[in-house]
Amino acid sequence: MYLSFSKKRNRLMRISTIILCFCMFVCIIHAGKIHTVKKNETLSAIAGKYGVSTTSLQTYNGISNPNLLFVGKKLKIPDSSIRQIQYTVKKGDSLGSISSRFGIKLSDLTSKNNIDRPDLIKVGQKIIIPITGGSVKKSSLLPASLIKSLTSIRPTAKKWTKIIIHHSATPTDDALNMHRVHKARGMKNGLAYHFVISNGSRKAYDGEVYIGSRWKGQLDGGHVKKLSLNKTSIGICLIGNFEKKSPTTKQLTALEGLCEYLMKRCSVPKSQVTTHKIIHPGHTACPGKLFSLPSLIRRLDP
Ligand SMILES: [Zn+2]
Repeated sequence: MYLSFSKKRNRLMRISTIILCFCMFVCIIHAGKIHTVKKNETLSAIAGKYGVSTTSLQTYNGISNPNLLFVGKKLKIPDSSIRQIQYTVKKGDSLGSISSRFGIKLSDLTSKNNIDRPDLIKVGQKIIIPITGGSVKKSSLLPASLIKSLTSIRPTAKKWTKIIIHHSATPTDDALNMHRVHKARGMKNGLAYHFVISNGSRKAYDGEVYIGSRWKGQLDGGHVKKLSLNKTSIGICLIGNFEKKSPTTKQLTALEGLCEYLMKRCSVPKSQVTTHKIIHPGHTACPGKLFSLPSLIRRLDP
């Protein structure tokens, strides 16, 4: 009697183990749907292929700008039953930057998370990002007109391996003036940097990205001492003296967007985003003690 009961129990356990394994297998298959982006594929085409909305695909993968899909990127395909994802607030985030990163409305974010004071979010706070099935909402940290200008310039293949960040070390300035000054200093191509990000001084607006002629012509920079580094490094200068005053939020947002764009377009890894001071220790304080490279790196996509 005891033996046969034990046999039955064993058989039952075996069957339930098989069922459990089968379920886990199905779950793994279900959760593991990954799509690798191929040449000329768009987010909406990929979404259509899997029968999900473009917005849900964009939100699920935290893509801030669908125009910046790069070949080889692995996209997680959301299950249609998934309606939301969780995001942990990082240093430097605002509810506005999170909503634009995920391409959803700020009001949807505040209502979903019962947030009365959007200015009081804390680092480490968990935010629910609702996934909606609507049409694609193009959003980016950079304005569409700038993306358009950037897209029209084809970077020289394999030329750029590093991004070096500088400050102007002056409280106010603008790219055209810097261009004139650099020319007067004997640089025949003028402006030594490829890009300048304004702090709103002079005629430019706060966070405005100026594309220099060296980027348009894919010319070497003139922003660091070493010639070999100027040949391979993209120079970005933020206007301001960050030894005395922090960069503006809009400058940092533009810098994050520009770095992400350039990293994807030129296949520059995050580890190669650096500062002038790191390149030339002891030689310069550029871009100043109030500029934090680690916080920029934390905010960049992997
Ligand atoms: Zn510098």
